[in-house]
Amino acid sequence: MTLRIPMVVQLGGARLSMNRSVAQSSRLRVPTASRCRKELPRRDAPPKVAKGISTQITHLPVAVARRNLAAVSFAALVLGFLSLHRVGAAETSLPIRLNTVGYPPQAKKQASIAAPCTNFVVIRIADNKTVFQGKISGPVSDPDTKEQLYTADFSKLEQPGDYQLEVPGLGQSAPFRVAADVYREPFYVVMRGFYLWRCGTAVSATYQGTTFAHDACHTNDAWLDFVGGGHTQKDGTKGWHDAGDYNKYVVNAGITVGSLFRAWEDFGPQIKTVRLDIPESGGPLPDFLAEIKWEMDWVLTMQAPDGSVYHKLTTKRFGDFAPPESETTERYFTPWGSEATADFVAMTAQAARIFRPYDPAYADRCLKAARLSYEFLKAHPEYHRADQTGFGTGLYEINQPNHRLHGIPQNRLWAAAELWETTGSPAVLHDLEARVKAVNGQVSPDFDWDETKDLGLLTYLFSERPGRDQALVKLVRSNLLATADGIVLDCKHDGYARPLGSHYFWGDNGGVARQTIILMAADRVTRHKIFRWSSKRVYRDTCLDALNHLFGRNYYGRSFVTGLGFRPPLHPHDRRDTGEYLNNPWPGYLVGGPHPKATDWQDVQANFLVNEIAINWNAALVYALAVCLND
Ligand SMILES: [Zn+2]
Repeated sequence: MTLRIPMVVQLGGARLSMNRSVAQSSRLRVPTASRCRKELPRRDAPPKVAKGISTQITHLPVAVARRNLAAVSFAALVLGFLSLHRVGAAETSLPIRLNTVGYPPQAKKQASIAAPCTNFVVIRIADNKTVFQGKISGPVSDPDTKEQLYTADFSKLEQPGDYQLEVPGLGQSAPFRVAADVYREPFYVVMRGFYLWRCGTAVSATYQGTTFAHDACHTNDAWLDFVGGGHTQKDGTKGWHDAGDYNKYVVNAGITVGSLFRAWEDFGPQIKTVRLDIPESGGPLPDFLAEIKWEMDWVLTMQAPDGSVYHKLTTKRFGDFAPPESETTERYFTPWGSEATADFVAMTAQAARIFRPYDPAYADRCLKAARLSYEFLKAHPEYHRADQTGFGTGLYEINQPNHRLHGIPQNRLWAAAELWETTGSPAVLHDLEARVKAVNGQVSPDFDWDETKDLGLLTYLFSERPGRDQALVKLVRSNLLATADGIVLDCKHDGYARPLGSHYFWGDNGGVARQTIILMAADRVTRHKIFRWSSKRVYRDTCLDALNHLFGRNYYGRSFVTGLGFRPPLHPHDRRDTGEYLNNPWPGYLVGGPHPKATDWQDVQANFLVNEIAINWNAALVYALAVCLND
């Protein structure tokens, strides 16, 4: 089925790693001009609410966010955020919080209500009729937000339609849909977000009456000064802008492409039915793969002749808030790192088998590149830190004393897993299984660019190739289920059914979305052959809880994705959002989310700590949405 909604975008955006310099990334400047018109007939009109409950979202003074903050220190910035954060979310949110995009008909459906109540009704918007009524349960204490939360369960409402939940004395919720295809449009919009992130080309898309567009950018990528090439250039064009900034980082491409390829390998037939309306639509490649190829084409340029892989391609300092084509500062390849090289092997090896049915020549090219870099890593078994001297852009470096993982990353495990799955090489399997044993086959409950081993473990677990150590396979499967069950439990005990429970960190919204990869792997394992009896849907239900949270069942009662759901972010940290786009951001982007506390999110452009956008978080969201494409 073809999904078609009016939308366009172009690129921009950048995100920062945990290591990014605060002062640099906060350097905002209002552009001198913007090129696109916009209206915003967005779904953000407040619903009816009982007297005394404010529905007005109060934003921080935008002028402050727009000001040039180049010289602001980290401390000053944090203090500034604190002083500006005067308006408590409790008085700016609707008390009834639910998924404002909606639910598949058979899904579990619950709302969290942050005020005392005893019963509720659901009203069909089309005719204002009450179609469901129920008793409220609770309250439960939510230690993260210090609220008493009540729960309304309307899972039995399965009739497709548009509704609002109403609680006597409290008012109505935001509108929501019940429909089998409720996630097709969000999937389309979020994937279009990748198209709009394209670098090296002009992009244009119209969404809800606004045209988002920019001219071709960064067509001179990039210089070789820092990798021994002198002041000469080599092709490094294409790819996606990384986040709120316009730079390109191999390590973040790794988890992004890996998550998208996982979605393809798990849900390819469903994904194939969604036309993305990109320039390649109608060509030999499925749209989804054509979009990823834009990134892979750039990734391939990051390989040095010896097989090592340049860590990133960036300016020396973060650029200003301005359209990407106006950023003409020179950009450079930076020296190689073992993390980037391992991620490169994984991406290209996986691409080789996924593109093979559609483009054998491209598959051959990817596999040749994967093998070369794998051999390079074999010859350089020690961790090698990329020398980023002279660059103030995102580090994407894991092996640091203050990093949450405290140690050497396991990217090589992922690299070996994908290369073995593609080639079946016994030597690579030997390498892979040694690495799986070294981490005791442990599956992490959440992972990101800084730890890709889960992707490798799942590839190993689901492989149909012969030769695996069956005891090791059993261990990984058992660890996977234990980890997934832990996620289910955290979700169950959370007042907003947040699968990450009480864990809050930079980019945790991406973490919430990415947990669906673990959950669906557990779902697949328990549905497999003799385990089929245990298909309780609990893992799939928890995936939906992740989407419920991101689209409004949260402390803020708002969607965390630009352009989608109720009161989506209007001021993401996205360098494209200047001029006319300031209150009408580029659509389809998941913002980072609250941290260090559940109550710390702000829809403030300058606050990249909670409100930036990034390819790795969007890729996780794509996976989560793909889970529900056919419900
Ligand atoms: Zn660009």
